[in-house]
Amino acid sequence: MTAASSGVPEINPALCTRCGDCVDACPSGALSLSPTGELSLALERCAYCADCEDVCPVGAIALPFDIIIGRHDEQGDAA
Ligand code: SF4
Ligand code: SF4
Repeated sequence: MTAASSGVPEINPALCTRCGDCVDACPSGALSLSPTGELSLALERCAYCADCEDVCPVGAIALPFDIIIGRHDEQGDAA
């Protein structure tokens, strides 16, 4: 994902290997690994950029898509 999302990053602890790649990639310092290896998110710092999702090698962190229901005209442009 390259566009900013309003989804909140969700961490799957069962998949996370505690590699720290997302911590290093996060531009706002919202992610951290505790001394015991727990990955945590400071939501107030999160810019919803999805860089963490892009770098995670095992898909353990992701920003879910927002589902927007709208009407489209014949050209396919959102009304
Ligand atoms: S979405 Fe961006 S700002 Fe938020 S935790 Fe992930 S890398 Fe950091
Ligand atoms: S990049 Fe993925 S596996 Fe590595 S610490 Fe972050 S969520 Fe866990």
